[in-house]
Amino acid sequence: MSSPVSAASALDAEALRADFPILRQEVNGHPLVYLDSGATSQKPQAVIDAEVDFLTHTNSAVHRGAHTLAAESTDAFEDAREAVAGFVGADAEQLVWTSGATAGLNLVAYSIGNATAGRGAPASARFALKPGDEIVLTETEHHANLIPWQELAARTGARLRHIPVRDDGTLDLEAASALIGARTRIVAFPHVSNVLGIVNPVAELVAMATDAGALTVLDACQSAPHLPVDLPALGVDLAVFSGHKMLGPYAVGGLYGREDVLADLPPFLTGGSMITTVTLDEADYLPPPQRFEAGTQPVSQAIGLAAAVRYLEAIGMPAVHAHEAHLERRMRDGLREIPGVRLLGDAEGVERVALSAFDVEGVHAHDAGQFLDSRGVAVRVGHHCAQPLHRRYGLTATVRASAAVFTTDADVDVFLDAVSGIRSFFG
Ligand code: PLP
Repeated sequence: MSSPVSAASALDAEALRADFPILRQEVNGHPLVYLDSGATSQKPQAVIDAEVDFLTHTNSAVHRGAHTLAAESTDAFEDAREAVAGFVGADAEQLVWTSGATAGLNLVAYSIGNATAGRGAPASARFALKPGDEIVLTETEHHANLIPWQELAARTGARLRHIPVRDDGTLDLEAASALIGARTRIVAFPHVSNVLGIVNPVAELVAMATDAGALTVLDACQSAPHLPVDLPALGVDLAVFSGHKMLGPYAVGGLYGREDVLADLPPFLTGGSMITTVTLDEADYLPPPQRFEAGTQPVSQAIGLAAAVRYLEAIGMPAVHAHEAHLERRMRDGLREIPGVRLLGDAEGVERVALSAFDVEGVHAHDAGQFLDSRGVAVRVGHHCAQPLHRRYGLTATVRASAAVFTTDADVDVFLDAVSGIRSFFG
């Protein structure tokens, strides 16, 4: 297993790159410059090794079976829960495994739908929605934090409201405080938008929601890999994050919940592994987190994700954030100087992660992306699962460059040089 971090004291991205085998290759005759971590990050050898090691030596069904491997697998799985929960400041009982952020948000929305249908313990009634209740989101949502709420609203008669985003990419907090009120039951929003890269004012929004007695749901997909995140300290009721965006494997993620909230929420998926006793007519359910973990869980992926958070913790999240803030400034300053480039959400003086979405005048985002690929630069193009936000800015697609802990200044410079050639190439 490679040492988690060759340069633990000061973040040396050049040294860290050696831990990411995929970065050693050339693409289209150029060294790979991977700037698509917002979509999915690359994995260090420590994560690959952790999964392979588990599958090679330990693999067995968890929470059942009397044999040695089953016990070892269960220990490894529950150790992973503790590590991943700890990474976001939580206790193990507060972390539900999911297959990703989309699954976590659907779990919450469907569980609230079940509470509305009268399912769950009597205390579940506190989540029940009625026609006229309001679910407040933002205009900046990834579809994963929009469509499950649209479905819930359609099933319950609740109404969706949206906090507007300003031209500069910041949320309009005055509008938010006017929107969030007596009818508000849920306030769901991203910690960091996957298009704008701006760290949203969680404390202010949580304060407004709490005053209104509403449940808060945070989409931490684009913050957890890049900033120190302490979910209990942020005061949110529920939050989701995604393993594959934070150096971990696919098909694993976390749903964090305040203990009293998880305790009262009815389950979404039901079946094996989430019950105490079952008769032919009914079943009693386990307490959280197992109540929300029906069926076989992503065990080797959870162990891989634990290796990913240990890798990030060995570097130190403050150092990760400082490095990426530096890259962000370099990227944004460079993009601003390139004629024809229009950055989305170009607010000054806000905290950001290293993610920039932009339009190149006269060139379709897909053409721009292909040109960058021909230079070995991997970016994302399209609406990034945020069609309403693109529409808000009068666009259907943008180019998005997003960095991670392994991104270097040299990567950013190659990218900027390539972007500056786009318009002349398409003439
Ligand atoms: N929310 C945001 C802000 C995202 O960027 C993404 C991924 O693109 C998701 C949710 C969905 O995450 P997952 O791939 O884990 O379902």
